[in-house]
Amino acid sequence: MHWAEEIANRIIQRNPNKKEYVCAAGISPSGSIHIGNFRDVATSYFVVKALIKAGKKAKLLFSWDEYDRFRKVPANVFNHVSGFEKYIGYPYVDVPSPFSDDVNETYAIYFEKEFMDAIENFGIDMEYRYQADMYRSGKYIDYILLALSKRAEIFDILDSHRTQDVTEGEKENYYPVAIYCPECKRDTTQITSLTEDCKIAEYTCKCGHQGTFDFTRDYNCKLAWKIDWPMRWAYETVDFEPGGKDHASPNGSYDTSKDISKIVFGYEAPIFQGYEFIGIKGTTGKMSGSSGLNLTPGALLQIYQPEIIMWLYSKTDPLKAFNFCLDDGILRQYYEFDRMYESCKNMSASEIDRSIMFYTEVKGHEIKTVPMSLIVQLGSIVDFNVPMMELVFEKIGTPYRYDDFKDRLDRAKYWIKFCSPENANHLLRYRNWDYYNELGEQESKEISDLHNFIKSGGYDLDGLQTELYDIPKRYISDANDKNELKSAQARFFKNVYRLLIDKDQGPRLYLFLYAIDTSRYLNLLDFSTPKTQEEINISIPEQNEAAEDSKPAIDVNVDPVQPVKPVISFEEFEKIDLRVCLIKKCGEIKNSNNCYKLTLDDGIKERTIVSSIKNEYKPDELIGRKIIVLANLERKRFSGVESEGMLLAGTNSACGCKVIFVDDCIPVGTCIR
Ligand SMILES: [Zn+2]
Repeated sequence: MHWAEEIANRIIQRNPNKKEYVCAAGISPSGSIHIGNFRDVATSYFVVKALIKAGKKAKLLFSWDEYDRFRKVPANVFNHVSGFEKYIGYPYVDVPSPFSDDVNETYAIYFEKEFMDAIENFGIDMEYRYQADMYRSGKYIDYILLALSKRAEIFDILDSHRTQDVTEGEKENYYPVAIYCPECKRDTTQITSLTEDCKIAEYTCKCGHQGTFDFTRDYNCKLAWKIDWPMRWAYETVDFEPGGKDHASPNGSYDTSKDISKIVFGYEAPIFQGYEFIGIKGTTGKMSGSSGLNLTPGALLQIYQPEIIMWLYSKTDPLKAFNFCLDDGILRQYYEFDRMYESCKNMSASEIDRSIMFYTEVKGHEIKTVPMSLIVQLGSIVDFNVPMMELVFEKIGTPYRYDDFKDRLDRAKYWIKFCSPENANHLLRYRNWDYYNELGEQESKEISDLHNFIKSGGYDLDGLQTELYDIPKRYISDANDKNELKSAQARFFKNVYRLLIDKDQGPRLYLFLYAIDTSRYLNLLDFSTPKTQEEINISIPEQNEAAEDSKPAIDVNVDPVQPVKPVISFEEFEKIDLRVCLIKKCGEIKNSNNCYKLTLDDGIKERTIVSSIKNEYKPDELIGRKIIVLANLERKRFSGVESEGMLLAGTNSACGCKVIFVDDCIPVGTCIR
């Protein structure tokens, strides 16, 4: 059962005959609203949908906590205007907008609007509550008077949920409400006395102001958070409210507010669901999770369709964290979403997948599952030119029209430009002589073969694909050696990418070569004519610039993290012999482009292993170093040499194949546990 439906069931069970259930969410407009806060809305919204699905009436009540005090100037405001520190202690609703001179557009309105504009894209119906209006119109007055009259009980409840000792006079001087000073507008006031009926208070303010406050008329005061929250539950008869996991901890806000709700306001606290915070993965490009840019729902909508944002929230248990990805991970998320979406459409989805999809639906919005990775790959080749893209899609047998991919097109463009510029593919303007001159004789022949094949034309997509795999096959010594063939093909593909786009990898090569007009790249594969004058003039700076671009930065093209494999028993683990070995020799293997023959000391005897790390390390970077070897792996021949085990290394597109070296103090032969 979907988690939202489990919650809905609990709500119904607790109060089966309620006419309309109220699910709440609330946010302070303290600055741009981070996507993590959106989990408050999404969680409550799904529960409302689940209640309605169960045949009940329910509403989502969203509270703008704009009457809270302004605590801190956020970075984007601080960088834009100076002097906003002076508003600390004001309610948000009284702070001017940092981005507008219009006196009507306050700080609260500015950030509320930013959020609500984004929310419109999700088709979520919410009933808004503006807390400043609620307080200042006197709607809560009975509850405030009640809280004042029961202030001793409130103090005891708060005290029972904290660890500090009570200080002298603390209880007597405790008031659960803060008065906003009419002089300085801040909440830096202290009540000094209160009449028996709790209606009239004397107070002083840090600014020097002293005054008399009539709670039945003045209204410009606010209950402290842990009293304000349960007061609103009682006022609105809230049945469910989620909250960040910080509120969910034992003796945290919820526990305390729950007691206050019951004891002070006589209202059974709503069902609560804590949720984990949201992560942002990928730190390259201009739109970065770590650059201080606050990732709002609006910002994420530039790269995610609203359904996919909802889907991530829907498919993840609230207590589990997940990431929004600015890096390649986003393509994986689009792919997985599409797969589930299609399976629901063709009725092959499981019940839980159907529920997950049910909650992600955005009213009046239709999803077309044109693969995002394809839009990115092909789009970047043709500069996202729409007629060209339609032509390319048709050529590769998936004749998508603009209407099908327009919703994703701008997002793909934005992502490439601001999040992942390294994924853009630009054909070189001139032949990559520097790279070509480094190629061996066979490799040059392979390029020449490809050039001739493309030039003669008359092939279809399948024919091109077959040829691309066949070319390197012709030049290897043993076409049956799958490892050798694979590495020869990988090397060939890399060479072609380097000659065309000066990158080690790129979009699927057969699509790439098929999609673009051959006249745009054929000359880049033809080295039969000498360097042109232009190439002589331009090659060095251009290549340097290109090389700069292709340097892998941190977190670039990180492979998707694989799911954890099935559990093995301790007995099975015990069978694995991992031990520290010393590399004594490192030799070349005839006819192998990527393997070394390593001679090791394993503590008992000399041992030979074959390892495909030739493109990563020079022999003198290996000899004399200690590594971890899987010593009881079955023997196997690679490139004609028998390998007695395998070294441990981390392989990822982001870093290539990196050997795990061991601290020199660990003796040879030591077992790894
Ligand atoms: Zn004051």
